Amino acid sequence: MQYKTIVAAALATGIIGCGTAPGKPGEQAAAERTTYLDRANMDTTVKPGDDFFLYVNGAWVKNTPIPGDKTRWGSFDELRDKTNKSVHTLLEEVVKENATAGSPQFNVAAFYKSGMDTAAIDKAGSTVLQKQLNAIKAISTPQQLMDVIIENGKTGLSTVLPNYIGPDDKNVTQNIIQFTQGGLGLPSKDYYTDKDAGAEKNREAYKAYIKKMLSLGGADTATAGKDALAIFDLEQQLAAASLYPREMRDPQKMYNKFSLEAFTKQTPGIDWKAVFDKMGISGQDTLLVTVPQYYKTLSGLLTSMPVATWKAYLTYNLLSRMAPYLGKEFDAAHFDFYDKTLSGQKEQKPRWERVMQIINGSIGEQLGKLYVDRYFKPEAKQKMMELVQNLQDAFKNRIRNLDWMSDATKQKAEAKLASFMKKIGYPDKWKDYSGLGITPDNYAQNVLNAAAFEYKRELAKLGKPVDRTEWGMTPNTVNAYYNPAFNEIVFPAAILQFPFFDFGADDAVNYGGIGAVIGHEMTHGFDDQGAQYAADGNLKNWWTPEDEKKFKAKTKMVEEQFNKYTVLDSVHINGALTLGENIADLGGITIAYDAFKKTKQGQGNELIDGFTPDQRFFLSWGQVWRGKATPERARQLIKIDPHSPAEWRAMGPLTNFEPWYKAFNVQPGDKMYKPENERAKIW
Ligand SMILES: [Zn+2]
Repeated sequence: MQYKTIVAAALATGIIGCGTAPGKPGEQAAAERTTYLDRANMDTTVKPGDDFFLYVNGAWVKNTPIPGDKTRWGSFDELRDKTNKSVHTLLEEVVKENATAGSPQFNVAAFYKSGMDTAAIDKAGSTVLQKQLNAIKAISTPQQLMDVIIENGKTGLSTVLPNYIGPDDKNVTQNIIQFTQGGLGLPSKDYYTDKDAGAEKNREAYKAYIKKMLSLGGADTATAGKDALAIFDLEQQLAAASLYPREMRDPQKMYNKFSLEAFTKQTPGIDWKAVFDKMGISGQDTLLVTVPQYYKTLSGLLTSMPVATWKAYLTYNLLSRMAPYLGKEFDAAHFDFYDKTLSGQKEQKPRWERVMQIINGSIGEQLGKLYVDRYFKPEAKQKMMELVQNLQDAFKNRIRNLDWMSDATKQKAEAKLASFMKKIGYPDKWKDYSGLGITPDNYAQNVLNAAAFEYKRELAKLGKPVDRTEWGMTPNTVNAYYNPAFNEIVFPAAILQFPFFDFGADDAVNYGGIGAVIGHEMTHGFDDQGAQYAADGNLKNWWTPEDEKKFKAKTKMVEEQFNKYTVLDSVHINGALTLGENIADLGGITIAYDAFKKTKQGQGNELIDGFTPDQRFFLSWGQVWRGKATPERARQLIKIDPHSPAEWRAMGPLTNFEPWYKAFNVQPGDKMYKPENERAKIW
């Protein structure tokens, strides 16, 4: 994953990461899995060269329904589920302890208790938000409107002014505040502009949802109905000034630095100096803006839209964003629209799981510390260091042997690869939470308090050098990422488990699993975005013009390849949106394969369970991508997710990769076969 995707997701949901937790690496019931590749999941009546995904996973696909409380199910999700269950055990134990106030045990236990106390939550309803609701009611001028927008942002409820603090892409040792587009209640701009019947149905359901929230907040039916339409109209205007996710992949285009004064001239309705003062920012005279056009439109709307509409908009946003932590009617309405209608989820997740995800998103490193203490084995970190080193050596070798790149660019690429920072398992330095107030009896307030605490932590970074020890995911997250500004690859503890990695597994399985994940993250440093950042993390071109041209032509092939894949009836993968991830998958499997071929198993030809070492390597890769999604979720992900659907992640890269053809004797006439001159080879 790319770091900016995580930041964007965090801004949209208030939650960083994927919201899950792990088990003990190397300890999963090895007895059940003597070979680590289960033939019972395969469909060997399918030719591997026709549909490799179904060959590896066909029986599983046929026999496995998506659980009612999930919208996706597969290898990743099973591991997430397993990890969540170990965290659940931990939570049930920690609430019984008598922990010292302020300790991770205390905060986690108190947060958990507050979230599980549905009687108290139902009784409180929306009363916990009374102060904020009153402040909105009292607005009568555009100035007061801005004040409330800023004030709500301080407790994680940013609406039209989403922002975060991070390294300045062109001066990465310094932090700067960065403003992005936002203010929408639907998942992306597409939802406001798509013309098909499904999109229209979603918009109607969304308007009904806004009305429902306002009604639950106390508005009469007529007012709620009228306000819902006005709010939707406001969002539609914000959407028109926003970019589609696929248009936001060029870091140069997204880098717009302004002085406060200069940007105020462009957005006359917003005085940025005053905004900074209200936010509590001092000593800063510049800002970064991803989509200036969005702020120009917003500045007009702040004065042209009736104040009454803005008040309704803020009321609705407050209630909707906080709905999962309020009484059951709010919670149910929120689930009904966002999970059921938009994503096809049939039933709510168990309460403990939802609360756990919120704890993970709010005070994740406290939960993560407990998780690591309990479940993570130091030897897994050691083993991972070795694997990363082997992959790095393989990548270096590949760069040296590239037939399309000049020596000058190769040297720069190699230097960048050599300077990767590696984070494995958990942070060396845990975040400090002293002073954060978490109580066992007010769930919604805990959510707000934790967000306010993080807001202050973030703000304090301004004017200080960038802290490169920070993590963007919690240890109990089944995921990994590359962060270009730090030039780092990061692997949380929870991904170091089967099917990615197991101490008992043969090298083919581990290199086809976690090996390809490591290679994937490394390649992000050299994908369409990552390649624009230099070894020191700065957004700075290090390519000769000739090599850059060749690189772009190669990535274009990948873009066009994925454009052709169909997901649902007429829905295609967007090759531009998914380009970085597809490049990373192709690089990942290539580099992992090279590293695997250095191992004893990779050099031999001993069959295990009837498969050659190379076949097992690719079967492991195919097994990692075992998965399916509800149709609603699949449609949503096509618009907003920079990753291709699992099926195409499994197959797309292989069609470009010669050793896979050899391993399964794939021939012209097989459906996945591509002539050699049509195969994309980049890294
Ligand atoms: Zn990725």
